[in-house]
Amino acid sequence: MVEHLQHYGVIRSKKVSEVMEAIDRALFVPEGTPPYVDSPMQIGYNATISAPHMHATCLQLLEENLKPGMHALDVGSGTGYLTACFALMVGPEGRAVGVEHIPELVASSIENIRKSAAAPLLKEGSLSVHVGDGRLGWPECAPYDAIHVGAAAPEIPPALIEQLKPGGRMVIPVGNMFQYLKVVDKNPDGSVSVRDETSVRYVPLTSQEAQLRGY
Ligand code: SAH
Repeated sequence: MVEHLQHYGVIRSKKVSEVMEAIDRALFVPEGTPPYVDSPMQIGYNATISAPHMHATCLQLLEENLKPGMHALDVGSGTGYLTACFALMVGPEGRAVGVEHIPELVASSIENIRKSAAAPLLKEGSLSVHVGDGRLGWPECAPYDAIHVGAAAPEIPPALIEQLKPGGRMVIPVGNMFQYLKVVDKNPDGSVSVRDETSVRYVPLTSQEAQLRGY
């Protein structure tokens, strides 16, 4: 899977290939789901684990903001796959936080992480996953060098911009029918620059009720 993503230029750095090799996707997909096929897979509760090429794209975009000691927030952490990747990249001196609004997914993501190479970081406390509305971010560990949002928001939640550190970067899908993966950079003077990276298709960033109703 990693070689395939390198061949197609989705993975362009050693760090991203190393972390995607270290965190085995097979530990994060439901039993009976093919782990290394490049498409999103159902994980229950009207949610999906993103396709490997989307995980790789987001890791590439955030690589410079996932250096050892940095703080990273994963909103809509789902299976915990990217949260675990972030934790490995920022290391024990850093902080990786996942926020997910379905309690059952938080519980299973913690089980997944426990089986993975990120388990010691979960034990030490530099990696944590919480039940909460990710549109509000996770102020306790703010400001963040990197914020990833794994579900499409109608607009960029203001709390997430607030919790981004100057020099920090957020990657967030925005839109309803037509979605773009936006790269939001907070400049050192606190101003914000936004650009579209690519068109994407994510499940919505919404309320727990709307999601469980089927949107
Ligand atoms: N990156 C995750 C993506 C999971 S799909 C992975 O690859 O496993 C998107 C996730 O966002 C779902 O798990 C869904 O439950 C969650 N979500 C949607 N709206 C949310 C909100 N307002 N707060 C927290 N999580 C939310």
